[in-house]
Amino acid sequence: MPITLSPTALLEQAETRWTELAATRPDLEPAIAVQRPMVTRTIDAVDRLSATEIAGITLEPALAATKLRAASPVLRGEVLALPTEVLGPLVLHACDDLEAGSAGAVAQHVRACLDADRIDMRSLLAASFDRNQTAIRMKAMHESIAPDVLWLAAELAVGPAAHVAQRAVFAPHGGAPHPAVAGALDAWPHGYCPACGSWPAFGESLDAGSRLRCSFCGLGWRRAQPGCIYCVADQLTAVKTDPGESHLVELCGGCGAYLKWLSVPLATPFELLPIEDLASMALDVLAAEQGFGRPSLPELGGPEQLPCEGLET
Ligand SMILES: [Zn+2]
Ligand SMILES: [Zn+2]
Repeated sequence: MPITLSPTALLEQAETRWTELAATRPDLEPAIAVQRPMVTRTIDAVDRLSATEIAGITLEPALAATKLRAASPVLRGEVLALPTEVLGPLVLHACDDLEAGSAGAVAQHVRACLDADRIDMRSLLAASFDRNQTAIRMKAMHESIAPDVLWLAAELAVGPAAHVAQRAVFAPHGGAPHPAVAGALDAWPHGYCPACGSWPAFGESLDAGSRLRCSFCGLGWRRAQPGCIYCVADQLTAVKTDPGESHLVELCGGCGAYLKWLSVPLATPFELLPIEDLASMALDVLAAEQGFGRPSLPELGGPEQLPCEGLET
């Protein structure tokens, strides 16, 4: 489990990494400028959410283990009291940040749509938490706004809540999970996150073993089998930007997707995962140059809302 740091310590660590990164990759400075407010807000959000009901969720260990053994992420389908008053403003701020970045006016349209209450914020947050891309995409199309920007803005806001919720299940009170949950987690053979069902942002190679790190909730879990985490094919090629580099990217000849593996001394705190993702961007470029991409969210089925209904005001 990643070490829990105070918000101040996390901010200091973030600033140190951004300074190092800007010094070695000056071309990333604009991306750092967009990322800085997002990460700062995520640090604050996790801290605030740690004092809310989400941090105290209890999921019967036997039920959690049963879900895991049935290939179902434990948070999928769980209805939690997401605090709209904390998370709603984060969605709007995320739109502003995306507007300052490459999304520009497209993000401004999404924000205007939210400001005009054309999308029910509570339902948007719930759909994002439940990784219901269909509902969010359909609603965005209905409102003639960019689906990817609405999805991303909601994801940036809700990720901290998913993190706090998964911590309550997998590291209750900072400790180890219930033995039933730990056993089922250890036996999890899938490439998608056992907490929320998202794909990992990247893998971390640590002295203590390697872990996949969820791109949404930040959970770390063990890769169970050597093949591709997306399609299970055994057609992986590992490439590096430089033979002397310890970081590498695995390219899958079966499904055309890629996964980065970063050698790090310690597991990256959830709040700082986007920084390491950005810092290793050369691997994304390398993979893209060779025609590989990131897969779309796994289709796990489940009780999805009808496309527009749930997000109507
Ligand atoms: Zn997750
Ligand atoms: Zn594959």
